[in-house]
Amino acid sequence: MSKRIVALPGDGIGAEIMDSALKILAEIMVQDNLDFDIERFAFGGAGIDEQGDPLPAGTLNACEKADAILLGAIGGPKWDNAPKRPEQGLLGLRKALGLFANIRPISVPDAVVHLSPLKEENVRGVDFVVVRELTGGIYFGEKKLGETEASDLCTYSKAEIQRIIRKAFEIAQTRNKKVTSVDKANVLATSKLWRQTAEEVAREFPDCTLEHQLVDSAAMVMIQKPKAFDVLVTENLFGDILSDEASVIPGSLGMMPSASHSESGPSLYEPIHGSAPDIANQNIANPMSMILSVAMMLRQSFGLENSAKKIEEACDRVMNQGILTTDLGGKATTTDFTEAIITELRGA
Ligand code: ATP
Ligand code: MG
Repeated sequence: MSKRIVALPGDGIGAEIMDSALKILAEIMVQDNLDFDIERFAFGGAGIDEQGDPLPAGTLNACEKADAILLGAIGGPKWDNAPKRPEQGLLGLRKALGLFANIRPISVPDAVVHLSPLKEENVRGVDFVVVRELTGGIYFGEKKLGETEASDLCTYSKAEIQRIIRKAFEIAQTRNKKVTSVDKANVLATSKLWRQTAEEVAREFPDCTLEHQLVDSAAMVMIQKPKAFDVLVTENLFGDILSDEASVIPGSLGMMPSASHSESGPSLYEPIHGSAPDIANQNIANPMSMILSVAMMLRQSFGLENSAKKIEEACDRVMNQGILTTDLGGKATTTDFTEAIITELRGA
């Protein structure tokens, strides 16, 4: 039976970059003789407009039965005052699927190293992955807000720490086999359990190394020596901050994919950027974030390493030819870039 992919184009540039990425996927399916059943569903603002719900029942049902989910982007000023918000759809979907691990690969293509706010010698060759725990920690602990005092409870169970650290090691095994676990173990009890658990899990992966770093230090190293990292794993709050810090390194959000994994259900692949309403419907959005999300899906959900590599290398070659979208200082349209990738794939 063919594998099922659910595509959620969403709002703003979501539909444009999804169209582009699905064209690339269609080309790869022909070339590599892959069989996927791909179906689009309404989600986010588009779900509200079409069915009065950011996560319509039919969409949720399809996602739960899917083998992988592709998401464009959601939200925009159109729904600012709507009774239901597009973002509620994404929170609901994450919860329903039990997505606990958010993965953001950070790399800087040679063709655009000059766009990075960091020194060129520090960013050339940067290639690391941020693994963020998504379902625990201070965001979900008990909250008390009084007149003169407030508190947020940070809790982690050992099981929650084990599964995210394991995920980091599994990713490290496919890369340079080094895990940097980030915590604040000199101060926080949750971080002490985190560090001890990371040590224990590391014994299951003798081919990999584990190092620990305090979050304040990690924040500095990410700017000063980002090449020091291979796989960085951390809890929810630290991961929220560090993954946004990391996303600044390449100089444009338009190139960056992400994945969210659950324990056994389908994974969700999406660009890290939003729906970019300021440039929607102009055919100028950079579709690379969505195209690379497709590559991540092929690798992580379907084990199709070669197909994933083909797409990633085609993106690099097209950029090296100077075919760049406006966010990267070029003049290529979304369509130009998409067609150039297809030409590269056919020539490769
Ligand atoms: P959200 O709140 O949904 O995260 P945001 O306000 O952070 O959204 P984004 O939608 O991520 O904003 O866009 C931030 C800026 O980056 C905008 O100016 C947008 O045009 C630009 N941008 C984002 N994605 C792309 C892309 N794929 N191609 C070109 N420009 C992009
Ligand atoms: Mg944002």
